[in-house]
Amino acid sequence: AEVPKVSDCLFCKIVAGEIPADVVRRDERTVAFRDVNPQAPTHVLVVPVEHQPNVAASAAADPAVVADLIGAANEVAAAEGLVSSAAPGTTADADPGYRLVVNTGAGAGQSVFHTHVHLVGGRPLAWPPG
Ligand code: 5GP
Ligand code: ZN
Repeated sequence: AEVPKVSDCLFCKIVAGEIPADVVRRDERTVAFRDVNPQAPTHVLVVPVEHQPNVAASAAADPAVVADLIGAANEVAAAEGLVSSAAPGTTADADPGYRLVVNTGAGAGQSVFHTHVHLVGGRPLAWPPG
């Protein structure tokens, strides 16, 4: 039988375990791993197992995958201690929080063309982001 072709996509290779990564969460549809160049004390990427080049394509192919990504990201945020037990929306000390970012398109800073959600937190996060 023919050996299946290995995708050239970096994140497909991480999903497949062909490139090492610090995986913090995995289920049937998503994989979460630490960013190799972290921009905050917590910087995790959450990707769908199913390859699509960006979130617009993922949403068009299977809208549920977007909910899966955000759900997984929120679970990782909780595991990282970023989800406050205080009432939401109080102060930064009581509710440090986190940010989910989905760069979509080269002009918006996307550099890896496999859908991914950045989870960043663990330091104050300015808004607007610049
Ligand atoms: P983008 O710029 O596409 O929104 O985000 C891509 C992210 O992937 C960047 O933050 C970058 O640091 C990260 N990244 C690129 N190559 C690798 C890698 O081989 N391993 C891991 N863990 N992260 C990577
Ligand atoms: Zn891929």
